[in-house]
Amino acid sequence: MTVPPVGPPVDLRSDTVTRPDARMRAAMASAEVGDDVLDGDPTMRALEAKVSELLGTEDALWVPSGSMGNLIALCVHLERGDRFLAPDRAHILDLEAGTAAWLAGGMPRALPWTAGPGVPDPSDISRAVAPGGPYFALRDRLLCLENTHGAAGGTVTTASQHRRLVAAAHDSGLLVHLDGARLWNAASALGVAPAVLAEGADTVQVCLSKGLGAPVGSVLAGSAEFVRQARRVRKMLGGGVRQGGVLAAAGLVALERQDRLAVDHEHALLLAAGLADRGWKTAPPQTNIVAVPVHDPAGTVARLGQVGILTLPTDTGVRMITHCDVSRHDIIRTINAFPPPA
Ligand SMILES: *Cc1c(COP(=O)(O)O)cnc(C)c1O
Repeated sequence: MTVPPVGPPVDLRSDTVTRPDARMRAAMASAEVGDDVLDGDPTMRALEAKVSELLGTEDALWVPSGSMGNLIALCVHLERGDRFLAPDRAHILDLEAGTAAWLAGGMPRALPWTAGPGVPDPSDISRAVAPGGPYFALRDRLLCLENTHGAAGGTVTTASQHRRLVAAAHDSGLLVHLDGARLWNAASALGVAPAVLAEGADTVQVCLSKGLGAPVGSVLAGSAEFVRQARRVRKMLGGGVRQGGVLAAAGLVALERQDRLAVDHEHALLLAAGLADRGWKTAPPQTNIVAVPVHDPAGTVARLGQVGILTLPTDTGVRMITHCDVSRHDIIRTINAFPPPA
């Protein structure tokens, strides 16, 4: 017999499931707008200026999704057949439908996690990029970093690791793109400003629609010249939006919520500790992603779903992500919903 769910579902499948609250919706409703494809939208411009200030770049461009932001960066940085490096299981390698190859013409190379989960070592870069090869050798062009690294479990690259990786890439003649979909989480966990974790990167992509809670949108930041080229590629991909200020207004409210991420991280720790107490081999999360190794991921996810706890299966277990629509009470309910380990 299944126990009926108590209360509304607890949705831990992703931090993308957050819904705009009343304040965010009010900001969207009253946003000042223009035509961002024709001659600009003032709220878009304000958001882009704010993000470039937060990341310490010259300029920035709003994009509809993180995937499009990453793709635009690859399109600008790569010529057809150029190789790009990224930590193994990076989003840009595994979860963007192959657009890196299909549209940007890039050859991928995965780097090992030598310096910790999701984090390569600078020596991995110099080893991968051998200069002075024969004329038919691949042309290495770009290093794509990911902070936090999603598939590794929301793991952070520290400021000093980041600096050394950027220096190694530049020494090897590579440009650096940072996939910072959850850079806000990394900054919160490390207690540093986002700009510190973006230092030296040629381009940076950050999501507004994950932990910060906007319904849509990412921002791609870099030099003024890069943004000029990126704006053109965005239009080529169908990503130019007209009265985008309605969406940018949500992004501006989202940016005020960086401090709140610490609560999500606390909730993730509480969840992991609660499950560890019950005998699950759950490592303490660094940010907002909790991975629980289980023997039957699909079956466990299905059973949790029957009691209103929504999670996602991975190859090796169950993945849960905390966010602003998950309360402490929801976390307790989740811990109690887990069956004892077999
Ligand atoms: C979510 C995510 C993206 C892509 O963002 P979308 O807006 O879903 O396209 C890119 N990189 C990482 C690491 C992500 O977690």
